Amino acid sequence: MAFKLPELPYAYDALEPYIDARTMEIHHTKHHGGYTAKLNAAIEGTELEGKSIEEILANVSKYPAAVRNNGGGYYNHCLFWTIMSPDGGGEPSAQMNIRKAIERDFGSFENFKKEFSDAAATLFGSGWTWLCVDKNDKLFICNTPNQDNPLMDVNDYEGTPILGLDVWEHAYYLHYQNRRPEYIANFWNVVNWHEVTKRYNDANPGASNL
Ligand code: MN
Repeated sequence: MAFKLPELPYAYDALEPYIDARTMEIHHTKHHGGYTAKLNAAIEGTELEGKSIEEILANVSKYPAAVRNNGGGYYNHCLFWTIMSPDGGGEPSAQMNIRKAIERDFGSFENFKKEFSDAAATLFGSGWTWLCVDKNDKLFICNTPNQDNPLMDVNDYEGTPILGLDVWEHAYYLHYQNRRPEYIANFWNVVNWHEVTKRYNDANPGASNL
């Protein structure tokens, strides 16, 4: 019943030139692999064994720091790999619910992109920038430190993440060094909008009314 490191849905070099193969391989095998192994070690023999990762994160304030750090790391990277694709990039089409919701809540796709990019560029230290949907079907952008995420009961807001950007240095430093804004700008070339709109629809049963 232990958590398992998922396979990437594409080759390590598939996101080049925007994200390089060596970064992807180390990030997946060593970093995500490490979070997965440490999460399993942290919950082995406890009441958390057999629970879903979402259930664990929703109550994470009650558990040791190892569960918060590695449970977050496990979940965040599982999401991250799926919302990127070698066939990604561009803008979500006008037919996609996520496009309609972005225009409703941010005014325009360009405004959304700027707000998200600015949040990622100004995040201090290591963490993640997220696009989330709240229980009233409103989209919002937030940053979380370390491996925290919006599913955890440690934030003063609640939401389901549907797009996330890893802004830890391990996600970009080999190729971009200190040039985080360039990494963020290039991330938009690989965003898998089909997956983001699917996650939006799954999180939001009212989406079909858009
Ligand atoms: Mn990472």
